[in-house]
Amino acid sequence: MTAASNAFIEISGLTKTYQVRPRFFARSRPLAAVAGVSFTVEEGGTFGLVGESGSGKSTIAKMLMGAELQSGGDIRIADRRFGSRLSAADDAWRRRALQPVLQDPTSALNPRLRVASIVAEPMRVQRSQPDDAAYERRVIELLEKVGLTASHARRRPSELSGGQRQRVAIARALALEPRVLVLDEPVSALDVSIQAQVLNLLKDLQAELKLTYLLISHDLAVVAYMSSRIGVLYLGQFMEIGDKADVIARPAHPYTQALIAASEPEHAASLDRVMGEIPSPLAPPPGCPFHPRCQQAVARCRVDKPLLRPIGPNHQVACHLAG
Ligand code: SF4
Repeated sequence: MTAASNAFIEISGLTKTYQVRPRFFARSRPLAAVAGVSFTVEEGGTFGLVGESGSGKSTIAKMLMGAELQSGGDIRIADRRFGSRLSAADDAWRRRALQPVLQDPTSALNPRLRVASIVAEPMRVQRSQPDDAAYERRVIELLEKVGLTASHARRRPSELSGGQRQRVAIARALALEPRVLVLDEPVSALDVSIQAQVLNLLKDLQAELKLTYLLISHDLAVVAYMSSRIGVLYLGQFMEIGDKADVIARPAHPYTQALIAASEPEHAASLDRVMGEIPSPLAPPPGCPFHPRCQQAVARCRVDKPLLRPIGPNHQVACHLAG
């Protein structure tokens, strides 16, 4: 792991293993959703986790948020350690300091409530304001911060556009003055024309409020636009991790190279079509986990698992041929 000098989040050797039954009568088998992942996020920075569905990125986010307990490894946030034993005070701090912004604002917002109630809800749970007038003032302040107006407070989610609904979800996430937003595919449910507006809003809020972001996306273009550091996940492990300038401009892993190629409009092709489907994490390939799909694989790749190793000051790659 390359430690950022002022790491706000530090994750070391994080693992998550589930016992699953592939079929009803079959014996349960271990599924390593996350297998020894380490990275740091500097305060006010954005770390982008990119990978296909099933790569383990959402499981990492759930462990960071406390929605799942890790099987092993260490999570530190602002010098607080979140291991298998957790003090009630640390747990309460995390629930306030880390807030999620999820992919689909439509399902994240209660359709029966008006926007004012949706945004005020986390504050009312925490009794963070002295009276109704203070809640109202704070709701309007939050709506204006995300580019909406007081008139939106009276509407229901069904009366808003997709972009406006995501702005409401962001306003609610900001209600308790969090330190970290966990952005899980925050624009993938939005029209392309709206995506840039929401990403720019997130950037502006980060600069204004000194927020730290963990961004999760299958879309390398979104991750590249937002992040200062990027980790490329495959079957629960990093294939490549480094500063954006290295990972995007000088990708050293064949998987990162394929993700970049697939994200370019003129080469738009799904990875599945180019390389076949991602293997099941229940039966990961021996050797390099990427070898069944790698066009550069050599005999060694089928038996010898490459470890993540540095090829530059802030750049690590798990490939025998890299560097
Ligand atoms: Fe491809 Fe081999 Fe590198 Fe794995 S180790 S990415 S199979 S070249």
